[in-house]
Amino acid sequence: MSDNSLNFNLFSGLVVTDEILNVLLRQFNAKFPTEKDCLEELYRRAKVENVFCCRYCKNKKIEKKYGDRVGKCPRCYQRTWFTGGTFFNRIRTARPWLLAIWLMERGVVISSSRFHKFAGIAQSSALNIFKKIMMVVQNHMQEVGETLPSSFFELVFFKRSRETKAREHPLSEQEEMEKQLAVPAVSGDANCEKDIYNSLEAKEKESLGIEFDRCEKEVYDILSADPIHIDTLCQKAKLPVNKISAALTMLELRGVAVRLAGDRYTRYTVSTELKGSELETSKIKLKLFSQPSFAASAGIKELVDAAISFIRNKFHGVSRKYLQNYLAAYWLELAKPKWKRNLLLKWCWHFEPICYKQILAYVSPVEVKLPPNASSAGFSKSGVQSF
Ligand SMILES: [Zn+2]
Repeated sequence: MSDNSLNFNLFSGLVVTDEILNVLLRQFNAKFPTEKDCLEELYRRAKVENVFCCRYCKNKKIEKKYGDRVGKCPRCYQRTWFTGGTFFNRIRTARPWLLAIWLMERGVVISSSRFHKFAGIAQSSALNIFKKIMMVVQNHMQEVGETLPSSFFELVFFKRSRETKAREHPLSEQEEMEKQLAVPAVSGDANCEKDIYNSLEAKEKESLGIEFDRCEKEVYDILSADPIHIDTLCQKAKLPVNKISAALTMLELRGVAVRLAGDRYTRYTVSTELKGSELETSKIKLKLFSQPSFAASAGIKELVDAAISFIRNKFHGVSRKYLQNYLAAYWLELAKPKWKRNLLLKWCWHFEPICYKQILAYVSPVEVKLPPNASSAGFSKSGVQSF
């Protein structure tokens, strides 16, 4: 079956049946029958993206046997792992990674519990693959879609995470998040204010213990309490925008940088949190959003409802902590007809390595990014409802 006829089927509905999956798996296996073929495809794409060079002398021409992970530099005779220091750093096998990306590039998003059976790998590995790829995808969602309060998605918060307090419902994560961001002056509760201050101070201290890579360190050093635009950052750091953007994402994930409106960034400090006027505005906005009387437009409600049913159908329930990952998965599926082949793998090759610790530390922001409707030919005008 050709790729096109299959795509036609996929676009006709949200449900990816086992039958479709098996057809796709046969296609994939025909193209990449062995682990060596999968590794070689990753290597080929790294070369296309020009991201791979000798780690010692930066020579771009490496001698490598087909399917090998290690190549030899003909100039300095050193051996280099082509996945080392990249997004694919320390992957055990290439096949499940390539398969997951290959499927997603076709708009086929399945839950990690389904992927683990489908790809014949451990559930934890499948979840790790899903989370890491979604980190990359969500980094590209900044320019698209709506920014909405995460509380709009409370209907899907069924799963516990390490952020969930003992003996509390997963929903408590949302309440906790809102409590932490509540404007102290409004709450009028001195203890609450003190708690917030202490937790922020702890976070700031913690951030000092974090080891940054070279790029992150450079970006972090430039950041201050004064908002700086990403273009200015690029000029100051003399680094390409993709490096800066990846470093900023990692700093954001670690909770030491804050993204503000208009692509501007500040360092996350106690003072920016408590005094920063920009953040105050967003907190007030959050307050407004959280009000039961806040009426989202019918269009927004429709988008949110569609995302909620996507998450419920595919993943049943999720934790608040990783909500943004699932919205990224939704974007992959929504954008399917417009999705460019090889784009996701390209993004991965240009992303920094993500370690397990960073995944654990990730928490979806209070305001999440929701992808726009794929067929955004206008929203339904009927029935404005409030949340
Ligand atoms: Zn070399």
